[in-house]
Amino acid sequence: MKDWQASATELYDGTFRHMFVDGAWCAAQSGREMKATNPADGTLLATVPRGDAADIDAAVQAARRAFEGPWSTFTPYERQNLLLRIAERFEAEWDRLCLSDTLDMGMPIARTLANQRRVLGMLRFYAGQAVSVHGQTIPNSFPGEIYSSTVREPVGVVGAIIPWNAPIAGSVWKIAPALATGCTIVLKPSEEASLTVLMIARIMQEAGLPDGVLNIVTGTGAEAGAALAEHPGVDKIVFTGSTATGQAIARAATGNLKRVSLELGGKSPVIVCRDADIDKAVPVAAMAVFANSGQICIAGSRLFVAREIHDEFVRRVADYASKLKIGHGIAPDTEVGPIISGRQAERIEGYLSAGPVEGAEVVTGGGRATGTGLGGGHFFQPTVFGGVTDEMSIAREEIFGPVISAMPFDTLDEVVARANATPYGLAAGVFSTHLGTAHKLANRLKAGSVWVNMYHAIDPAVPFGGMKMSGYGREGGSEHVEEYLDTKAIWINA
Ligand code: NAD
Repeated sequence: MKDWQASATELYDGTFRHMFVDGAWCAAQSGREMKATNPADGTLLATVPRGDAADIDAAVQAARRAFEGPWSTFTPYERQNLLLRIAERFEAEWDRLCLSDTLDMGMPIARTLANQRRVLGMLRFYAGQAVSVHGQTIPNSFPGEIYSSTVREPVGVVGAIIPWNAPIAGSVWKIAPALATGCTIVLKPSEEASLTVLMIARIMQEAGLPDGVLNIVTGTGAEAGAALAEHPGVDKIVFTGSTATGQAIARAATGNLKRVSLELGGKSPVIVCRDADIDKAVPVAAMAVFANSGQICIAGSRLFVAREIHDEFVRRVADYASKLKIGHGIAPDTEVGPIISGRQAERIEGYLSAGPVEGAEVVTGGGRATGTGLGGGHFFQPTVFGGVTDEMSIAREEIFGPVISAMPFDTLDEVVARANATPYGLAAGVFSTHLGTAHKLANRLKAGSVWVNMYHAIDPAVPFGGMKMSGYGREGGSEHVEEYLDTKAIWINA
């Protein structure tokens, strides 16, 4: 078995004191830095520049020069080849990327390693998209020889802002479509998890990415993030993060009417019908929340179970939860890693206290996890609340931690109404062995993705995104590249 701990000591070198602007590795213009720490034990991993508006401005200018300069001469086939070369380099560097993710944001190493198919798939899918973009010849009503057609053009300089919970997939899902369509990009990673994104920039540079096409400015949301959202030189903002920040970004983007795509939060329902295959549904419903310690936007945190099977099902989910291995993500058998920060841990503790006060019953968990090796980080027991009602804060608000709120239901009409009674609309899960029931529920649930007898499936070729206050725009599928393109109509009088 690989000795991940030994590899960790060699991972971060001087590169990580720098961010990446115009093909150069540089400090913040202000000279300020911020600490990158391991959430599992609080140790310092590296320092990174704390960029601000001045650094964002330099990066946007570099991205504009590249967009109008050398990058514009790349043919779609050259962009495709570049993406394929990047995919090869990712494959070769995969272990190091995963190790970095685990150290920097705590995701268990087994889970980061398992994301390889998806991330390499993204790079290769968008390589294919690079040579598939095309316009149309359109008949028109003019008499004579007047021809009309469309061409698709890259939208320009893209600003991307991402959260900390999935740095590899999160950044690749912004960068790859930009490269495929001929856009340039300025990406601001989360201040909680910048290191792996810098590593990704290094890999892309080594694969031959021209200067200025990708720029990474590390820094806080209030400084670098806000500056990027409002910068007049940015043509499009793609954002993944909380709904509140998404709203602020959409407002900031109005200055120059940037186009905006938002992938935001959720409070996703998982519905277990009385005809569900319980043996199969229990682990999936549990991991719909406990994967990545609940720090996933699609967490299926409202568990609706048909009354006839409710008590047995909830007991079995709780039993499954209580056996999950909690620990430092670097241990290959860890299933539930640390929470990213003290701020986030306090938030989760607030909900763990509020649940019983509002009348919920702790079926399992309910507090911090303690024990050998858990001292330096913020670890929580996977928690299942029973006796929850729709009005409780634990049933309404996104917790972003390992907490399930279980509730019984009686009829399909009732559960659809309750599942949809949320401002969010990101994802939903349905467990039923009856095809008609599954279809009916999938059609009626107001969510961007509905999984039946499974959860979590995300693929580069399949559109993913939110409805209602979970955002707008789609990542994945041919819809995704549309977000990075403009359409121009060309008329010719022959
Ligand atoms: P967050 O909104 O606090 O931060 C996300 C990013 O926005 C960070 O890079 C941050 O620095 C930046 N930011 C913060 N304030 C900003 C501002 N005023 N202007 C510009 N940028 C700003 O979210 P988080 O705590 O990092 O991540 C958790 C949230 O992300 C959850 O709500 C989760 O549901 C959501 N999320 C959604 C998806 C999805 O695909 N729908 C995926 C992952 C996470």
